[in-house]
Amino acid sequence: MYDDNCLFCKIIKGEIPSNKVYEDGDCYAFRDINPQAPVHILVVPKHHIVSVGDIDGTNSVYAAKCLEAVAKIARQEGLDSGFRVISNCGDDAGQTVHHLHFHILAGRSMGEKLV
Ligand code: 5GP
Ligand code: ZN
Repeated sequence: MYDDNCLFCKIIKGEIPSNKVYEDGDCYAFRDINPQAPVHILVVPKHHIVSVGDIDGTNSVYAAKCLEAVAKIARQEGLDSGFRVISNCGDDAGQTVHHLHFHILAGRSMGEKLV
């Protein structure tokens, strides 16, 4: 379930402190240490999955629960004017932590569209 060498697994277990925004039985969300927008929250499953590229029929429920959490957090944080959700997967996307996570970015216009 957890990977002892994984930074986000350590954060979920409370071994490394974090600024918690939301938690339930399946997901944990906390503020990014290096925010790229006024609101920058990371939503992670309480189950070690490396990235979107590793989602399959055995673990997709954890990813779905994270997206449910994204919607709850958006309401909780009052992100009524919009937000962006990003999940980097692999080197070309710039993934630096190899535990599935969804970035929630909000609080300003996201400007030039990447997609
Ligand atoms: P990635 O680059 O893998 O898509 O995103 C990893 C994110 O984790 C980065 O935005 C980075 O700022 C954030 N991050 C890395 N280490 C820590 C940490 O120890 N605490 C918190 N809160 N965020 C972290
Ligand atoms: Zn992990």
